[in-house]
Amino acid sequence: MKRVYTFGNKQAEGDASMKNLLGGKGANLAEMNLVGIPVPPGFTITTEVCTEYNEVGKEETVKRLKDEVEAAVKYVENIMGSKYGDNENPLLMSVRSGARASMPGMMNTVLNLGLNPDAVEGLIKKTNNPRFVWDSYRRFVQMYGDVVLGMEPSSKEDIDPFEEIMEHLKEERGINLDTEFTVEDLKLLVERFKNAVKVKTGKDFPDDPWEQLWGGVIAVFNSWNTPRAVYYRKMNKIPAEWGTAVNVQAMVYGNMGNTSATGVAFTRDAATGENLFNGEYLVNAQGEDVVAGVRTPQQITKEGSLRWAVLAQVTEEERSKNYPSLEEVMPEQFRELNEIQENLELHYRDMQDIEFTIQEGKLWMLQTRVGKRTGAAMIKIAIDMVKEGLIDEKEALLRQTPEKLDELLHPVFDKSAIKSAKVVANGLPASPGAATGRIVFFADDATAWKAKGEDVILVRMETSPEDLAGMDAANGILTAKGGMTSHAAVVARGMGKCCVSGAGSLRIDYKARTMVSGDASFKEGDWISLNGSTGDVYADKIKTIDPAVSGDFADLMSMADRHATMYVRTNADTPKDASVARDFGAKGIGLCRTEHMFFEGEKIIAMREMILAKDEAGRRKALDKLLPMQRKDFEGIFEAMHDLPVTVRLLDPPLHEFVPHDDKGQQEMADVMGVEVSVIKHKVEDLSEFNPMLGHRGCRLGNTYPEITEMQTRAIIEAALNLKKKGVTAMPEIMIPLTGTLEEMKMQEGIVRDTIAKVFEERGEEIEFMVGTMIEIPRAALIAEKIAQSAEFFSFGTNDLTQMTFGYSRDDAGKFLPVYLQKGILKNDPFEVLDQEGVGQLVEMACKKGKQTRPNIKLGICGEHGGEPSSVEFCHRAGLNYVSCSPFRVPIARLAAAQAALRG
Ligand code: PEP
Ligand code: MG
Repeated sequence: MKRVYTFGNKQAEGDASMKNLLGGKGANLAEMNLVGIPVPPGFTITTEVCTEYNEVGKEETVKRLKDEVEAAVKYVENIMGSKYGDNENPLLMSVRSGARASMPGMMNTVLNLGLNPDAVEGLIKKTNNPRFVWDSYRRFVQMYGDVVLGMEPSSKEDIDPFEEIMEHLKEERGINLDTEFTVEDLKLLVERFKNAVKVKTGKDFPDDPWEQLWGGVIAVFNSWNTPRAVYYRKMNKIPAEWGTAVNVQAMVYGNMGNTSATGVAFTRDAATGENLFNGEYLVNAQGEDVVAGVRTPQQITKEGSLRWAVLAQVTEEERSKNYPSLEEVMPEQFRELNEIQENLELHYRDMQDIEFTIQEGKLWMLQTRVGKRTGAAMIKIAIDMVKEGLIDEKEALLRQTPEKLDELLHPVFDKSAIKSAKVVANGLPASPGAATGRIVFFADDATAWKAKGEDVILVRMETSPEDLAGMDAANGILTAKGGMTSHAAVVARGMGKCCVSGAGSLRIDYKARTMVSGDASFKEGDWISLNGSTGDVYADKIKTIDPAVSGDFADLMSMADRHATMYVRTNADTPKDASVARDFGAKGIGLCRTEHMFFEGEKIIAMREMILAKDEAGRRKALDKLLPMQRKDFEGIFEAMHDLPVTVRLLDPPLHEFVPHDDKGQQEMADVMGVEVSVIKHKVEDLSEFNPMLGHRGCRLGNTYPEITEMQTRAIIEAALNLKKKGVTAMPEIMIPLTGTLEEMKMQEGIVRDTIAKVFEERGEEIEFMVGTMIEIPRAALIAEKIAQSAEFFSFGTNDLTQMTFGYSRDDAGKFLPVYLQKGILKNDPFEVLDQEGVGQLVEMACKKGKQTRPNIKLGICGEHGGEPSSVEFCHRAGLNYVSCSPFRVPIARLAAAQAALRG
């Protein structure tokens, strides 16, 4: 087994296609060499070794790797003309993680490996720059101490022991900035750092470069299993068995003086998708300085710099003096960088996120990868690239992450509400959208408050990977420090979460839990609002409005519809939901749950009267009251969905759900019905069931009380006929719930058809309609060829089908599902992601059997899975005509349907 792959000098043993083995970063480093881009040489230890390490441990892993790693280090030494572990001309190296899927900031990195007191002397002689060398050594001891030797603080209240030592020395010296330390100070820091290591770990800080290298490699493997990495994987559905690769690479330095610099850039705007090369850099700095938010990063292009100055309210004089762009400061290196970024985009045909370092005037590319982007940028970039002829429609569609459309389906600020809102601070528009919520200062508070149902905004000086769960829980993120590429900005864009970063005027006091900006002060729990598209921070809660599908988004959706073969309907019970879904492109209603209509105002009283009645006559009396109300409901829905089919499901839930369980409610019903309250109490008790989900519900209601089916059918058909008079076409599809045998379906069909015939005769007019059923009981799937004798369509109710196939109660699964997911017994929540292996078999079987009897039977799905992309793909393969999902998931399902068709 080959464990190590080298790259350097425009040669590489790997290439971009080897992501699984070399990780994203390793594969790209190899590929960049092959494309002829200047990359510091190095080697990649494969992801397989990570898995191996988890089985055999450190000693055996090092033994198996030793020869290959030593040979690879020689290879790097030859290219760089220096030697690892040499005292005169030392080669320094970095180790970085790199999994198949990018997990930004989740795992470990160690820089400057190979430094020790002897190498420091050698390097000073070579560079004549003692300050740079001691600064590197100081950084190395700190980073190695934190990452490899476990010096990192474990709780949020503790500060990094090394930072504490630095703060003390600053106080002693009366200075504010790291850059004010003298060489002697840096030496003293190294000494104090090493002492701290000795005190905490009982061991000396390792001087042997090989011990350092192996320590670093193993620490990267270990970082695969840190809680934050595990959390990130869970959130992004990355399997634990993938492992991370380790990239070992020659160090190049952006902090070797004023002809050196380092930066990060995107070939297009990751927030908006605009085709504009952009990014940030710092002169005389190391990579982490740009993202850590300690110094204010400068823009790479002049255009970007000018735009930044407007947002940051910096005058042109100040900008050109203190914050000039790379284009202005190092025009030659900028030209080379610009050319490389153009080539990279053409080569990868996608927006790239790149890292570079300029060491004493020489440009080195450290990394390129497909850049994370917001949902809006994802769409714009794909649409633009189709127009530019870089990719075709198929590729544009397949590149979309359907779930990310969700970001564009979230509210924005109400235009009139925002007019009167007061801007209290301004930061960078790091991730677009609008967010409103109450201030919390700690990530775990964000999680806890969210769990209580609060809307929160997480406010931090800057965020770190530890804050991930809290960022996830917050509606938006506000930081006082950090640029467009800070941790907060990158992670928020990945999550599609509104973020304003680097709002420099904020003064945050974690201890007092307060935030001050100018003369506005806030405490924990106060409301604020963020506009992630402008960087504005507002006091108070601001009204938001629903978004619409337009512009590039609309273009993408029409592109999707051109390629999809399955269409998308919506689950909607109100005219409002129906029209929202229609605007999102729904081609009908796949499930109108009629029971939801019975809960409002007067209707619930009449409904209760019907349920609590002592006989059929009593029920009919109450149903007569309900009829006009139901008819009006259907008129509203049919009108909103005019010219499109509407599947109306007859009453489904157990009746017990509708009756009053409190004394006041029971007394009210007793008064309405003119009986003793004890009669009502008795009836309510009578209706209670041990397993209501498996009890008196679905078509069992309509078959025991046919008058309910009659009333509902009449309401549906009369509503359609009323609309016909107004010139509106309604296309009702009447759906029988919870069918398990042919007989119960036939009986319901009979009642429905007889009622319809009666109404047609009464009115002397007809409309088109259909009668079908839900397939949501396993038995119905098993005998679907029989059910299809009576049903003109099947709609898979995969909520109940999942419940009954697994035997997991929908109402009680919360007790054990989280544990099952955590222990890996289940990969996904089967109520969210369709279980293709089990439940899927029933769906496929029912489709096949249904078609045997009725070749053109209409097939759809209306369980929650209808809006989940992997389930939508399954439905396409199973041959369904449509999927139906909640209104806000309609665009997601449209895209997923197109992708399914394109994947074939
Ligand atoms: C289903 O069971 O999948 C379904 C859509 O019906 P309900 O969720 O109303 O039971
Ligand atoms: Mg159901």
